[in-house]
Amino acid sequence: MAGDPRERGCALVTGASRGIGEACARRLAQSGWTVGVNFRANEELAGRTVAAIEAAGGRALALPGDVTRQSEVEEMFARLEAGHGPVLVLVNNAGLTDDALGVQLRDEEWERVIETNLSGAFRTTRRALRAMMRARFGRIVNIASLSALRAIPGQANYSASKAGLIGMTMTIAVEVASRGVTVNAVAPGVIETDMTRELIDERISRRIPAMRVGEPPEVAACVDFLVSSQAGYVTGAVLPVDGGLGVAALSPPER
Ligand code: NDP
Repeated sequence: MAGDPRERGCALVTGASRGIGEACARRLAQSGWTVGVNFRANEELAGRTVAAIEAAGGRALALPGDVTRQSEVEEMFARLEAGHGPVLVLVNNAGLTDDALGVQLRDEEWERVIETNLSGAFRTTRRALRAMMRARFGRIVNIASLSALRAIPGQANYSASKAGLIGMTMTIAVEVASRGVTVNAVAPGVIETDMTRELIDERISRRIPAMRVGEPPEVAACVDFLVSSQAGYVTGAVLPVDGGLGVAALSPPER
């Protein structure tokens, strides 16, 4: 099917009321996509994301939906598709942490994180794929984490969810590569959002080779590239966005 995919369908960013998801929604709207701004609870902030996109001349709509609930995922897709065509870009960003040392980690903490970060992304991916394959164009970007690749005490559940997300990324990427659909992941390091604000201090910045934490638009810029038509031959990749933290053998010397 020929033509500009931005005129044939739309984008969906899960967890776009704030943080990295908000930045991705704004960036994709700037790139010309009509964007579904999903949120779970924070309607007011999702409304603000939509208003900011519209004020910049873009198109967006707020979409309630908990990715851990199949019926809400279905409803969210149905609403978006009814007005804006198939979801041709999916950014699986909704996520949370619920940290505890492994020996103390309760079933609820394990399940909540796996359900949201991994199973949630699976539900939306499965729902989006058929239309993408039919359109012979699709872009799925999963927001993983450096925690999938490096051990951080207290994050066994989070790390397992993000490592699983990377495994899913690679597998689905090869399953759909011949249909013009790419599936990639980005692995942010420490990005300043509600999730990390309390943990961020001078000492953390000094351990990052770039000597600073990242900002949500820096992750969004990478997502925007992976969604673009120039990235059509990039699939199954995991792109770190971490100021060098993941490859550093030693913390840089203090400056
Ligand atoms: P925030 O806590 O700032 O935002 C989380 C977003 O996810 C919110 O929009 C929230 O919606 C939404 N959300 C949570 N649970 C659900 C759910 N069940 N269904 C739908 N939406 C949900 O997080 P960040 O922006 O920091 O993180 C975004 C992603 O990036 C996550 O997947 C996280 O794991 C990943 N990441 C973050 C890093 C960081 O340093 N910040 C580093 C590496 C990865 P609502 O506002 O309605 O609650």
